[in-house]
Amino acid sequence: MRIAILKERHAGETRVAATPDTVKKFTAAGHVVAVEKGAGLTASVTDDAYASAGAELGTLAATLKGADALFSVQMPDDATLAKLPKGMLLVAHLDPYGAQERAKALAKAGIDALAMEFVPRISRAQAMDALSSQSNLAGYRSIIEAAQIYGRAFPMMMTAAGTVAPAKAFIMGAGVAGLQAIATARRLGAVVSATDVRPASKEQVASLGAKFVAVEDEEFKQAETAGGYAKQMSPEYQAKQAELVAGHIAKQDIVVTTALIPGRPAPKLITKAMVEAMKPGSVIIDLAAPNGGNCELTKADEIVTHQGVMIAGFSNLPGRLAADSSALYAKNLANLLPLLVGEDGARAPHWDDEIIQGMALTRDGAVVHPTLVKESA
Ligand code: NAD
Repeated sequence: MRIAILKERHAGETRVAATPDTVKKFTAAGHVVAVEKGAGLTASVTDDAYASAGAELGTLAATLKGADALFSVQMPDDATLAKLPKGMLLVAHLDPYGAQERAKALAKAGIDALAMEFVPRISRAQAMDALSSQSNLAGYRSIIEAAQIYGRAFPMMMTAAGTVAPAKAFIMGAGVAGLQAIATARRLGAVVSATDVRPASKEQVASLGAKFVAVEDEEFKQAETAGGYAKQMSPEYQAKQAELVAGHIAKQDIVVTTALIPGRPAPKLITKAMVEAMKPGSVIIDLAAPNGGNCELTKADEIVTHQGVMIAGFSNLPGRLAADSSALYAKNLANLLPLLVGEDGARAPHWDDEIIQGMALTRDGAVVHPTLVKESA
């Protein structure tokens, strides 16, 4: 199979979908990898490094010429999509819930598209799970960003001049990103608490040495879907949760929010009034910014200051660790490759495999993902 890797054109995207390591793996397996010149520069990968690993370097047009598959971090822009040959396999983050019109356009163009967001959360697919690999880094980076913005220290410091109190950090949403944020904040010396609506998260939070804060009623006990995701909570639960959070948040210095519900806008967990109850100098890092934000005041890609509280809505935290996030994402793709080719190495996605079935957005000119077919019906 001939695999194309392009420079990402999405604003602010610094990651790249292949590294010299994965290029070596692909070429050793008999595939050809074509990389657009300069594709890796923002992730600290030079053209020479790709060439030494066995890639062909070229222009956008040369890279796409004869390619069977395009591996990408984000959905290519319209100009690039128009250049993709019919029948090409596209594997990328495709924002499947948000970009349904784009899915129709992909189908119309005859592109077979696999969404990395839809890799099933099953054990066999863990090595391909880009949501996890990227969320993990985002969780780590959220605390680094918070420490950068916060005008005080994280750990307790006892000095001759006096004692600096440790920062209090509260993590809302203890999934992959939240758990890594807890671990990172603890490593920096903060006193950490966390909340989630899934009962399974209680033990995970405690095992990292953080205090679990949640409304643990009957609804909470049923709040996890069979797929391991959170359900949308009832207005009654949300009201109880808001009351609990309001009291707790007023005492926090750092708040990291990561709460998401697949296919829905992010739940609003922090109101303007709650922000106003926080101490000046406190910091909120809202990882749900691209999905509308968990805080009412969040603005994507901005740091908003409201009554002295700073609210940061970074929409691409993995992109702030481009070398590591690219390396893990590229490995996710390399682990997926055996499901995309036949025994002879030619393009032949295993459409009947549970993983490919879960990821398939479009195939043979039609939108095929059950969620999108249902929504457009
Ligand atoms: P996510 O990004 O969809 O959401 C982040 C967190 O926000 C979740 O823990 C969710 O429960 C929480 N949340 C949602 N609504 C909330 C609310 N109103 N208040 C507080 N918290 C709220 O989640 P994720 O990080 O992708 O993980 C989802 C689940 O999948 C977790 O159980 C995780 O352990 C599991 N998982 C399984 C595998 C696997 O088995 N292969 C891999 C990765 C993750």
